[in-house]
Amino acid sequence: MIRLSNIQLPLDHNDTAIEESILSMLNISAEQLVSVNVFRRGYDARKKTNIMLIYTLDVETTNNEFLLAQFAEHQQIKETPDLNYHPVAQAPENLTERPIVIGFGPCGLLAGLVLAQMGYKPIILERGKEVRERTKDTFGFWRKKILNTESNVQFGEGGAGTFSDGKLYSQVKDPKQYSRKVLNEFVSAGAPDEILYVSKPHIGTFKLVAMVEKMRAQIIELGGEIRFSARVDDMHIKDGQITGVTLADGEQLHSKHIAIAIGHSARDTFEMIHKKGIYIEAKPFSVGFRIEHEQSAIDKARFGPNAGNEILGAADYKLVHHCKNGRSVYSFCMCPGGTVVAATSEENRVVTNGMSQYSRNERNANSAIVVGIDPSDYPGGPLAGIQFQRELESLAYVMGGSNYDAPAQTVGAFLRNETPKDIGTVVPSFKPGIKLTNLADALPDFCIEAIREAIPAFNKKVRGFAFDDALLTGVETRTSAPISIKRDPESFESINTKGLFPAGEGAGYAGGIMSAAIDGIKIAEAMALSINAENTLS
Ligand code: FAD
Repeated sequence: MIRLSNIQLPLDHNDTAIEESILSMLNISAEQLVSVNVFRRGYDARKKTNIMLIYTLDVETTNNEFLLAQFAEHQQIKETPDLNYHPVAQAPENLTERPIVIGFGPCGLLAGLVLAQMGYKPIILERGKEVRERTKDTFGFWRKKILNTESNVQFGEGGAGTFSDGKLYSQVKDPKQYSRKVLNEFVSAGAPDEILYVSKPHIGTFKLVAMVEKMRAQIIELGGEIRFSARVDDMHIKDGQITGVTLADGEQLHSKHIAIAIGHSARDTFEMIHKKGIYIEAKPFSVGFRIEHEQSAIDKARFGPNAGNEILGAADYKLVHHCKNGRSVYSFCMCPGGTVVAATSEENRVVTNGMSQYSRNERNANSAIVVGIDPSDYPGGPLAGIQFQRELESLAYVMGGSNYDAPAQTVGAFLRNETPKDIGTVVPSFKPGIKLTNLADALPDFCIEAIREAIPAFNKKVRGFAFDDALLTGVETRTSAPISIKRDPESFESINTKGLFPAGEGAGYAGGIMSAAIDGIKIAEAMALSINAENTLS
């Protein structure tokens, strides 16, 4: 096939415009065009009154080879790359030992699925509950303030991204097209087909729940095993080689190939692996608040007269500001038409995050506004970042009234450094509830200073961003893992524990659903190759 990229058409182009552009670009007749597939559709909204759709198309013609030779120097005309996934290994018939995957978030899910598809019958251990039970616990916390520390927004089948906006784009380099494999698996499990071609695909919470169940069923059908309420509390290491794990109920499982894909919130497990001598390092992460505006205001600011256009959908934004004090402030995990959610996994702590449904039709837009920090801000060894996060989350709990309500402040009051008397026109979406206060006390001074400088700067890019009634809710602390479980770049094994494969966000190798899922595929491949190499030797 031939790939044509960067084809720009007006937002309201007619049905024949795509075909006409192809014929003109390749200088061929309609009879020579066999088929057209939209590989990607994005948009350029820099000129609000003239928003353009940008297409990447894969086309089949009656004379592909001739055209590719004719346009060999043309930057927008290339051969379509191979988008099929090719498994790197197949389990040997005499497989004596099943690989273990710890954690069933996007990383563990794809690692488990790909291992199962290659015939390795993985055992997947997940501390939380299966997704329907977990949904009850999570919504129960939001409605009734009853927290289950093992079954919540962070822990359980599907991992941290299950109750989310389900954004599926990532900026990781992906020469092997693993993201296509992930998207294809998601579509097979019930995700809408459009995720295959829109430039910023998203799924939303309820669809994710159903998809995770289907993917679990596929793993089981292929001989894999998934155990819920199976928290790994200990690891067995002999002469620098992983040999097995102990579960919270005391059961022991043995394997010399174990992936650890535990996400960024498994603080007890981080502590355990550090105690066992598995090499970890403190790494930078970010802290800040969630900001809410009315979605209609963001749509208007981004799309002008085209706000509300069905193709464009609810508008998002991506902002960054480099501050005078040397810090960077940026928007993170923006959720158009969504809600701010309570995301703690520990008692007496408050953490914010955001989610939405596929329709993205809730009243407010929300996004984290966070400040980058690094280990020099919280000296004290590899686990010091966890302590730093905990202190901020405990403080937020107290500032919110010590009942899981979150501390909040209108943007106007935040910029003027005063406690607001009332909320304005932006109605808070955070459940269980908010308490108005002065958020200046919720983060270190350098963070507050940076956010105070950034919000007016963001207002220049998204008009209305610094609107007095916009609402800040705190605190956002779980933007990524505060540690990294270092692995060898070639073998993907821990740098000091053979057979242990650190993976996904918790190990510091992903940030978001798509990159975690891609890392899961890489880890599955590395485990499979390692198992086969050992099988050949023995
Ligand atoms: P996780 O998804 O965190 O999964 C780790 C799993 O390991 C968990 O299920 C946990 O229970 C389990 N586990 C931990 N310790 C143990 C143990 N000792 N034994 C057994 N199991 C264990 N990203 C996006 O790209 N788009 C979004 O729209 C988006 N929205 C988000 C909204 C919310 C509310 C949250 C919390 C996160 C969101 N994210 C989003 C981030 C995204 O969810 C994570 O980047 C992603 O889930 C990381 O995947 P992972 O598999 O590495 O880890």
